[in-house]
Amino acid sequence: MKRRKSSLLLKTAWKNIFWIGLMHLLAIAFAIQTFTWGAFICFFILYVTTAMIGICVGFHRFFAHKSFTCASWFEKFLAFCGTLACQGSPLYWVAAHRLHHAFSDTHDDPHNSNQGFFHSHFMWLMRQQRDLGDPNEYQHYIPDMRNKRFYKFLGQNMVNIQILLAFLLYGIGSLFGHGWSFVVWGICVRLVAVYHVTWAINSLSHMWGNQPLMSHDNSRNNFILALLTFGEGWHNNHHAKPRSARMGLKWWQIDISWMFICLCRKLKIIKSVYMPGASH
Ligand SMILES: [Zn+2]
Ligand SMILES: [Zn+2]
Repeated sequence: MKRRKSSLLLKTAWKNIFWIGLMHLLAIAFAIQTFTWGAFICFFILYVTTAMIGICVGFHRFFAHKSFTCASWFEKFLAFCGTLACQGSPLYWVAAHRLHHAFSDTHDDPHNSNQGFFHSHFMWLMRQQRDLGDPNEYQHYIPDMRNKRFYKFLGQNMVNIQILLAFLLYGIGSLFGHGWSFVVWGICVRLVAVYHVTWAINSLSHMWGNQPLMSHDNSRNNFILALLTFGEGWHNNHHAKPRSARMGLKWWQIDISWMFICLCRKLKIIKSVYMPGASH
């Protein structure tokens, strides 16, 4: 895994700036006037599907850390839900996250929290980093994933899939007389919420909270962030025991993603689950 010697900033990532900026502009401009309870339910369902199932359980605990094994159809489902969060291809996301763990809070960390809140929250996405801008380069960090054509397909069609989802939401919303409300809340408001919650793990979870475990970086445990992020806010636990499928290690450390993993295990969709010190 080790490689990367301060991958300096190359050029401005205009595509990221355009897309993230557009979602924020549309959400701010239209969220209030398009609010309906139906649109809010649509937002909530997609928020849970993309943030928890897609990012927390899928991209993070399954793909990046191999915290559990599961049926092949479920693996594809996790990759699809994660892609709906519009944070890049599964391959790119996993490569960036593995770099974060390998070089946490150093110059080689893609979102080094020592460079300040704004850098680790989102500014790091506004510049292409040498080995994260080029799939041929970041393949080095994902030897277990690089040949999966389905993940490549998802990455290449991420925006197209989002546009198809927008049409679908418009159709469903129109049945209730609120087509545009469903699009604004199901796509723009939801993406902005998922972005900031995910980004908060890179920024606030390395600044705000306590550090009960030794992790050699700035990672923190934070109860409020853990609730907002489906358990990912037990971030000091996570950095200390990165492969653990469970991040809330104490009974009172609520970890909703872990509850979801337990449910899937009961349903026999998820098979062996990795826990610190034991394999179940
Ligand atoms: Zn971290
Ligand atoms: Zn991680």
